Amino acid sequence: MNAFEATNLYFGRAASIMQLSSSIVRLFETPQREVKVGLTIEMDNGDIRTFQGYRVQHDNSRGPWKGGLRYHPHVDPDEVKALASLMTWKTAVIDVPFGGAKGGITVDPKDLSHAEQERLTRVFVDKIHDIIGPQRDIPAPDVNTGPQHMAWIYDQYSKIHGHTPGIVTGKPVDLYGSLGREAATGRGVAIATRQALLAMNKDIVGATVAIQGFGNVGTWSASILASMGARIVAIGDASGAVRNSDGIDVERAIAWTKKHGGIHGFDGGHSLKDATAVLFEDVDVLVPAALGGVITRDNARDIRAPFVVEGANAPTTPEADAILHEKGTVIVPDIYANAGGVTVSSFEWVQTLQNFTWTEEEVNEKLERRMIKAFDTIWRVATDKKVSLRTAAFIVAIGRVGKARVLRGLS
Ligand code: NAD
Repeated sequence: MNAFEATNLYFGRAASIMQLSSSIVRLFETPQREVKVGLTIEMDNGDIRTFQGYRVQHDNSRGPWKGGLRYHPHVDPDEVKALASLMTWKTAVIDVPFGGAKGGITVDPKDLSHAEQERLTRVFVDKIHDIIGPQRDIPAPDVNTGPQHMAWIYDQYSKIHGHTPGIVTGKPVDLYGSLGREAATGRGVAIATRQALLAMNKDIVGATVAIQGFGNVGTWSASILASMGARIVAIGDASGAVRNSDGIDVERAIAWTKKHGGIHGFDGGHSLKDATAVLFEDVDVLVPAALGGVITRDNARDIRAPFVVEGANAPTTPEADAILHEKGTVIVPDIYANAGGVTVSSFEWVQTLQNFTWTEEEVNEKLERRMIKAFDTIWRVATDKKVSLRTAAFIVAIGRVGKARVLRGLS
């Protein structure tokens, strides 16, 4: 099953509980627009290379399409479609006025210099500028893209359309970015973890946590969970993994990772045999915060954590989801757990459009309120309907998107 089929399966499960008609199911299974573009740039050594870029706009019933741009060798049309659909449901669960989109370029950015990445990003904007816009479709960072890429997009788009900082979110704080945006997804993951534990009468203080992925989401999740009193005992990334049952000094681990390009060799714990070993640690909470499809039918039975909080998008395949559900594992689903990023993106968009800035405290406080409210809503639906948190989150999201679509009309 590919990523798009998996997303539609989760969607379909909720849709059948809601008794949606097959025509409405088909409507929401079908992206509104899929764009594929060839991106040709000159490399630093004079060679010419062509890359494939994608933008999928899944649904805009509740507002402009919104979603990140991923630069990764595994980016393909199915993955982009799946992630675009997840964005539709995520923006609805957390109740920000956006639809869902996603984009990406099939490339390993490690193979490109800074200047080559800039040229590639600018060519991408040239190819998709007429389908994006601050009231139309607003890209943001995702795997291997960050504030610098957003600055290039803002600049290139503005060359064509005039000064338009609202074209992207996740911009550098010095260039219309929002305070608190960089940490927002991790902060949301930490709040989601705390609320899920609380709902099961457990305390975040002293809870043990393993984290897979130590980039933007992983580092901020670790740092904020630790500040809430949790003990981070295992961290893994693409370079390796470490464990320390007394608790890893997260800030030292972050500094190490920045300096060495990965967690491998970190001297604040002992190395695990491979990066995936963190998934199977005997901890209270597992936070997958790397790529999708890492918890599968083949390894789900080996997951020992009773709580899985999905920092990454689509880390659990549907087969694994069923196995974990049967085992009684509480899965806090991606469309809620990692929604902190798009929430603060919506705050950034509002600030940019108003030419006004909020303090970091204001941003964090507004984020916290939304994360708690959304958790309470999906927890209530899960309890009332005796369904998983994932199905409950889809039910809430589909209800909101469906209502908007009906009110606006179909054409
Ligand atoms: P990132 O590029 O900053 O970090 C990715 C991390 O994953 C790195 O530490 C990398 O080493 C690790 N990784 C890659 N391959 C791995 C492997 N095979 N095994 C173990 N670790 C591996 O990306 P990010 O922005 O932190 O995004 C991580 C996930 O969170 C993605 O699924 C993304 O879609 C999702 N997400 C990100 C945001 C955001 O605001 N950045 C928001 C919502 C969801």
